[in-house]
Amino acid sequence: MCKYPQPTNPKQVVTVCAYCHKQKGRRGDWQNNRAPHAQKQTHGVCPKCYAVARARLLLELAEMKRHRMSTFSTI
Ligand SMILES: [Zn+2]
Repeated sequence: MCKYPQPTNPKQVVTVCAYCHKQKGRRGDWQNNRAPHAQKQTHGVCPKCYAVARARLLLELAEMKRHRMSTFSTI
């Protein structure tokens, strides 16, 4: 018997969206059904949540740039 943890078969791992908890299907589709607790899970981001997170990040970056520019303009 091996005393080291064995690598997990990727087919046994379910990808769950970190934001909306949708489950990624084998064909790359994201569904609302929750993964059974016994199944190993990893986290990803579904396309819908990715678009929202990306838009928020871009807005935040624009705000930071604007703030930095206004800080520099007073020097
Ligand atoms: Zn999502």
